[in-house]
Amino acid sequence: MSGISLQDISKRYSGSVLAVDDIDLEIESGEFVTLVGPSGCGKTTTLRTIAGFEKPTAGTVHIGGKDVTDAPPYERNTGMVFQDFALFPHLTVHENVAYGMEADGGYTDEEIDARVAEMLELVELPGTGDRKPDQLSGGQQQRIALARALAPKPDALLLDEPLASLDKKLREQMQVELRRIQQEVGITTVFVTHNQEEALTMSDRLAVMNEGKFEQVGPPGDVYNEPETRFVADFIGTANIFDGDVTQTEDGYVSVDCGDVEVESTATRETAVGDDVSVVARPERFNFQSSTDDDRDENVFTGEVTFRRHLGSSVEYRIETAEGREVVVVRPSGLDEHEPGEQVTVSVDADNCRVVST
Ligand code: ATP
Repeated sequence: MSGISLQDISKRYSGSVLAVDDIDLEIESGEFVTLVGPSGCGKTTTLRTIAGFEKPTAGTVHIGGKDVTDAPPYERNTGMVFQDFALFPHLTVHENVAYGMEADGGYTDEEIDARVAEMLELVELPGTGDRKPDQLSGGQQQRIALARALAPKPDALLLDEPLASLDKKLREQMQVELRRIQQEVGITTVFVTHNQEEALTMSDRLAVMNEGKFEQVGPPGDVYNEPETRFVADFIGTANIFDGDVTQTEDGYVSVDCGDVEVESTATRETAVGDDVSVVARPERFNFQSSTDDDRDENVFTGEVTFRRHLGSSVEYRIETAEGREVVVVRPSGLDEHEPGEQVTVSVDADNCRVVST
């Protein structure tokens, strides 16, 4: 198996759209890395540059230590799966899965039959070889697309929104299934999605993209708990974000004046008085306060519960303060239940507030 290395990659399309803006990424052999970001941020262009369907305007692509920047797609030994599966409708499942090996020409019929059977076992669809794609469900078709991509033993698997057209429940099943197969085969995988939940559940690391650049690259837990920018905090998971000016930096604490509220945070980045910053607090880090709790002002919000919804193991509340600020709070189910219309006070510790760049 092989790692992938992107160095100083930029891609400018004609018409001067700078789709990818000088990115670097080192993907280890066997690693599952997800490119995640909003529509148009450059995910697909990056993936297609790895696959060889796009030539970068600048930079180099290495797969398995080999410089493939100028190599055509068929010389890169990657397997690709697309959102629309792209199975050949007139071919049987067996013929679809065998396609890459047949095209390669270097395999005997026995080797191909054995490999197709092995792949159909891997995706848990043995015995479907004689069917046509339209005799399979959407989820089954996607498994066959995966089997087809893996059959020629590629060095890397490239997946462009492969689960996007499946309904929610099936998509969740396939997330688990895809990860199982990837780990079983141990193949280096680059996965593209605009779905942050999918990126968090599936990846060893995620690369959060915005306007052609990586805002942050790291394991899901780090990106969620320690976002480095306002964009990352906002795009990955739900965040309460307080924008304001630094008024004080002392003893490892930063105070930020956000107009209607003073927010205190442990210093997670270098700041000076007067800096424009954002403070991020995840909803599950808030507590409800009773009126007898301490009477500090900072990091305390009083308002009306405007919305409540049960998420199964937790409950989400939306609280609107008198100044019109909305605070989202998530609490474990069964604790401190509050009703819409109720006046409540919530607070969050400075340790659970993170100063990020705006
Ligand atoms: P989506 O999630 O919508 O697929 P994406 O993050 O994959 O978006 P890209 O498809 O890589 O984004 O597109 C990045 C930018 O490049 C966009 O502004 C897009 O309009 C532009 N772009 C993509 N392909 C071409 C092309 N062939 N010619 C010109 N511009 C393009």
